[in-house]
Amino acid sequence: MPRTHAALADFPKRGHDHRACGAHALSEAEELCRQRGARLTELRRRVLETVWQDHAPLGAYDILARLNAGGERNAPMAVYRALDFLMENGLVHRLSSLNAYVGCRHPGHDHSGQFLICTQCRDVAELTSDTVSTAVSRAAKSRGFKPTGGIVEVMGLCPNCRRS
Ligand SMILES: [Zn+2]
Ligand SMILES: [Zn+2]
Ligand SMILES: [Zn+2]
Repeated sequence: MPRTHAALADFPKRGHDHRACGAHALSEAEELCRQRGARLTELRRRVLETVWQDHAPLGAYDILARLNAGGERNAPMAVYRALDFLMENGLVHRLSSLNAYVGCRHPGHDHSGQFLICTQCRDVAELTSDTVSTAVSRAAKSRGFKPTGGIVEVMGLCPNCRRS
């Protein structure tokens, strides 16, 4: 897969072929689960597909609503469990500032994740900078603090919103 794929661009241009991003993420997820012997069940797969319907993060209840839009009756717990599986396997990240989920752009690589979150369009770019992770854990350690999560969330305006 070429590095220029839209799924890998930090802030993909508006109007890009987003179905390609979703298809790319799904095939990466299938491959990763196969390698690890993790079961990507139908519901887990569809939750991931729903998360990837957009680059903007989605709340669990939005995901549930989209899944059930066609008349299905999936329970919230089932969706939370599917999200837990996807997070454990590094396919989805949870952004606590938005209480929402976003598809991982670099699945299969060990990273804690840093996010640039646009407050206007809610698009999110995922960075995986070791420099940032190391600086945060050093600063925490020097204060006798033991972090249990390492996700850094930065709010601001994305290049698409700054241009318009
Ligand atoms: Zn896209
Ligand atoms: Zn990630
Ligand atoms: Zn924006």
